[in-house]
Amino acid sequence: MPRQYPIEKVRDIGIIAHIDAGKTTVSERVLFYTGVSHKIGEVHEGDTVMDWMEQERERGITITSAATTCFWTPTYREGDKNFEHRINLIDTPGHIDFTVEVKRSLRVLDGAVVVFDGVAGVEPQSETNWHYADEYKVPRLCFINKLDRTGASFDNSYRSILERLTPNAVLLQIPIGLENHFEGVIDLLTRHAFRFEGDKGEKTVGGEVPDNLKDEVEKQRHHLIEKIVEHDDGAMHEYLGGGEPALDKLKAVLRKATIGNALVPVLCGSALKNKGVQLVLDAVVDYLPSPADLPPVKGINPETHGEEERKPSDNEPLSALAFKIASDPFVGTLTFFRVYSGIMKRGSYILNSTKGGQERIGRILRMHANHREEAEEIYAGDLGALVGLKDTTTGDTLTDPEHPVVLEQITFPEPVISVRIEPKTKVDQERMGIALRRLAEEDPTFRLRGDIETGETIISGMGELHLEIIVDRMKREFKVEANVGRPQVAYKETVKGTAEAEGKYIRQSGGRGQYGHVWLRLEPMERGQGFEFVDAIKGGIIPQEFIPAAEKGVHEAVDKGVLAGYPVVDVKVTLYDGSYHEVDSSEIAFKIASAMAFQEAARRAKTVLLEPIMKVQVIVPPDFLGDVTGDLSSKRGKIKAMGERGTVRTIDALVPLSEMFGYSTTLRSMTEGRGSFTMEFSHYEEVPASVATAIIEGKKK
Ligand code: GDP
Repeated sequence: MPRQYPIEKVRDIGIIAHIDAGKTTVSERVLFYTGVSHKIGEVHEGDTVMDWMEQERERGITITSAATTCFWTPTYREGDKNFEHRINLIDTPGHIDFTVEVKRSLRVLDGAVVVFDGVAGVEPQSETNWHYADEYKVPRLCFINKLDRTGASFDNSYRSILERLTPNAVLLQIPIGLENHFEGVIDLLTRHAFRFEGDKGEKTVGGEVPDNLKDEVEKQRHHLIEKIVEHDDGAMHEYLGGGEPALDKLKAVLRKATIGNALVPVLCGSALKNKGVQLVLDAVVDYLPSPADLPPVKGINPETHGEEERKPSDNEPLSALAFKIASDPFVGTLTFFRVYSGIMKRGSYILNSTKGGQERIGRILRMHANHREEAEEIYAGDLGALVGLKDTTTGDTLTDPEHPVVLEQITFPEPVISVRIEPKTKVDQERMGIALRRLAEEDPTFRLRGDIETGETIISGMGELHLEIIVDRMKREFKVEANVGRPQVAYKETVKGTAEAEGKYIRQSGGRGQYGHVWLRLEPMERGQGFEFVDAIKGGIIPQEFIPAAEKGVHEAVDKGVLAGYPVVDVKVTLYDGSYHEVDSSEIAFKIASAMAFQEAARRAKTVLLEPIMKVQVIVPPDFLGDVTGDLSSKRGKIKAMGERGTVRTIDALVPLSEMFGYSTTLRSMTEGRGSFTMEFSHYEEVPASVATAIIEGKKK
């Protein structure tokens, strides 16, 4: 089957928002309106409220799909099939605990709609997400939502975008009325006043600008056009000569500037009151890039190690990125992928160039708002989900085996918070293991490990909410009940010096004996390097067959820790000497011997505790600046920068995570509820000796 939509008519976009700004509501409206537009001619007048709720419920479920496909014909071309576009909506999470999810969705989307609450304007987390989008150079549109709410201010919201996010934001629309009187929006370029009629606002009706807004429209329109023509010499020339470039020309220049991140169009409305969302879709088509508008992706050829490029074209060899693994109740494992070049074909073989194995492509699915479709082929620039892929995890590249390439990896930060979790019953115990392993496969920032001493399971993640959601999913999706401990900081251990030690496990009295004997050397590695095992045994002093067992012994000892039961990191372990016995040596004896040697060597090499340090940004009114910085310093925080932003002050600091538990309550009471903060993981650092002693003592109890 040839491709249905030329690549120019594809958009891969995400909706980014601060929690509660209205991302879910906007997405639901998008799926509703696009569903309506796709079934042209369908009459909706007769729909009962019940139908609408049913549909909403269905959408409420599928909205969490990693990628949902929908179709949109711009309202100004209504009914023109040739103008229908395929929009792939990529799910992005709203909470700071899921920065990784935000990052990985940003990695595969080409453009984003950033939703703001029209009362609150820019909130701290919108800033964090905005900066991530900057990092990935994602072209954006802004949608100032909730203009129907009491206290909504379009002007203040727009100003907060200009001051706090980007001076390149330009108004494409202004609202007609606000709060209770919010009626619709005016498109500045065309001077059309739009109202949204029908039960669900599905009819977009253009009309004359109301008299009382005519001056404002002209003023803002003038400003918009000046901003646009700056980005094109021809248009600028025409404008300076006293003319105005044609509408198509203005739109084309604005499109180019938006894709180049030089301008950010701002739109407005109320998703809840069904006002304005269709025009956001028009703007997605008009101003956000198609995959073909983007430069070729770069990757490394795993054979030659040279850099290679893949153009966004069906004629190139296949390159695709697996960006999300999900377990689905009907089909099992779903691997969501984006094709950057070439075609993903059912029945063909692909190479997982990150891991090295080949797999055959079985079923390919496309997710729609309320159904899924079997696909034979997914073309360059498009997204889909593979069913039943075995060894692929998030971030892996899938390529043509004949033309392998590894695309840039998605890097995931280390989980920093852990809780102990204990199944309620024996039945739960079995299921818990399966459930947690499944969830860990889906989410690279979620880890689990067993505490060998207590037999308990410890799960670690990015934040308290992250772990709460994992436990909740375990309950709902896997029906596992568990007791959950208090969140704890995920400390680590490391060695400061180099040391050698011997491990001997020898039992030779009566019956079959045991004989394992090794010498290990431990050396510190740089922070973040993890763990490395080197086999430096020469001349068969220890036979090859026992080396894996010795390595396993080291691994177990590393996991178990030396000081306080936290895993040891950033250490290189070299097995360089030992001996064996013809009859008595066994794998188990070597495993025990090397675990013993590791513990002894770690003690000699001076083991210390490491703690996660968080990058914290606090925003407060000036009156509270002193109190807040004083408090951060008392929390072992280091103030890195202070700044002014409009009427408020910002404080950037590095603070140990252990000091940040309950900070939202502290900050609230310290600032009469007017302060806010965001926090993300920065790095691991050695715990000061006095603090470390308390932690180690606490663990022993
Ligand atoms: P999310 O957390 O960003 O997904 O936000 P939701 O879509 O769940 O919306 C959060 C709350 O704001 C819900 O109670 C919505 O009903 C409400 N909401 C969303 N959009 C609007 C809007 O345009 N106007 C008003 N008044 N409320 C809205």
